[in-house]
Amino acid sequence: MGVILFGPPGAGKGTQAAAICEAMSIPHISTGDIFRKHLKEGTELGQLAKSYINKGQLVPDQVVCDIVASRLTEPDCAAGSLLDGFPRTVPQAEMLNTWLTQNQRSVGAVINIQVDFDILVARLSGRRTCLACGATYHIDNNPPPIAGRCDKCESEVVQRDDDSVETVRARLDTYAKDTAPVLAWLEPRTVVHTIDGSQAIQTVRSKILSAIQG
Ligand code: ADP
Ligand code: AMP
Repeated sequence: MGVILFGPPGAGKGTQAAAICEAMSIPHISTGDIFRKHLKEGTELGQLAKSYINKGQLVPDQVVCDIVASRLTEPDCAAGSLLDGFPRTVPQAEMLNTWLTQNQRSVGAVINIQVDFDILVARLSGRRTCLACGATYHIDNNPPPIAGRCDKCESEVVQRDDDSVETVRARLDTYAKDTAPVLAWLEPRTVVHTIDGSQAIQTVRSKILSAIQG
């Protein structure tokens, strides 16, 4: 079954993704992670994405949709996948819908993680990320056991360039303008489970797992 993990930047999508994927035996597809991988590898796509990411803007719809469509055709996605950070605009949702119909696939559920904007600013500006494996931490809420070191792969954890206070504000504005309307588009078409993401990480995790496991 395909699942969309929806919510503003900083809601906790990346933090919760591994548990959902493990519970459902599906791969995690994060468009943000895909762009960061390209950025790290210095590809042309990475250079293009950087010019949007560092301004808190969205990468053009067609570019993102082509990447997702290509990833969804890989064999590990045959039984479903967890889409994290996609779709982020109504045109992306429409293109995904068309692709799913053409390929006899479907999205069974949307997990919508809801968190107030003031909490999001504190979460994003305190977030630290392992650039080697993508694991995320928070300087206060979820610090790595050894300061500055990733608990999973022991690489250095750093602040993402787009987690600076100015870029965070731009990203939240972009979310309000372009991404929040996607929820109203999804609601009549798919089951949407809205979860209060302001609770503790473990509590949010249990509520998500209960929602998807029925
Ligand atoms: P997203 O993938 O939705 O942008 P992340 O999963 O990276 O968000 O979480 C953003 C930041 O908030 C990270 O630093 C993470 O450790 C922290 N965080 C995530 N969920 C919670 C929570 N329930 N309570 C407190 N902090 C959280
Ligand atoms: P994220 O890691 O999900 O916070 O994404 C980081 C950045 O990557 C976003 O601020 C956008 O610039 C870009 N991005 C990720 N997913 C998308 C998407 N579905 N559409 C457009 N841009 C995206």
